[in-house]
Amino acid sequence: MLRIYKNHSAKFDNPQDLKNYCFGGRGVVTLENPKTKIHHTYHIKKPRNEDEFPDDVYFIYAVHMMGDTNKCFYIGMIERGKFRLTRASRFDRHHAIVKGAHYLMQMMENPGAFIKMNVYHEGMCSVCGRPLTSPASLKRGVGPRCWAYLKDTLPWKQPNPDG
Ligand SMILES: [Zn+2]
Repeated sequence: MLRIYKNHSAKFDNPQDLKNYCFGGRGVVTLENPKTKIHHTYHIKKPRNEDEFPDDVYFIYAVHMMGDTNKCFYIGMIERGKFRLTRASRFDRHHAIVKGAHYLMQMMENPGAFIKMNVYHEGMCSVCGRPLTSPASLKRGVGPRCWAYLKDTLPWKQPNPDG
């Protein structure tokens, strides 16, 4: 089961932080329509058996929260930055959860798409899964040690080398 630290949750304020976070390998984000408050939660995960997949493959799951517990349902995969459904997907392409996953990917690349929806991380570091504490970590969604490692492994450049 995924551990979620709802009271450490924070809203992303730019597409770059969201993208960095999602590629940490075990992040959880919630996408929310600011008008309707309809929201979906996604877990973006590196494969457990990493050797069997290229480095740039991630799986995306829908997280259903039920009280203190939650369940993950497989949606599809992200490969070279592109999301797609696969045969094992539990949802078809018309499902709101799938549309949300596509939108989440757009938000990482497109500031215009980013500002139309709210997106939050769920309080844990997207690299190690531990709860986040400092303001800088909360903003980024990645703890200081994990960030030192993650920022050098990301395939895209960081705007601020000290960030
Ligand atoms: Zn960490």
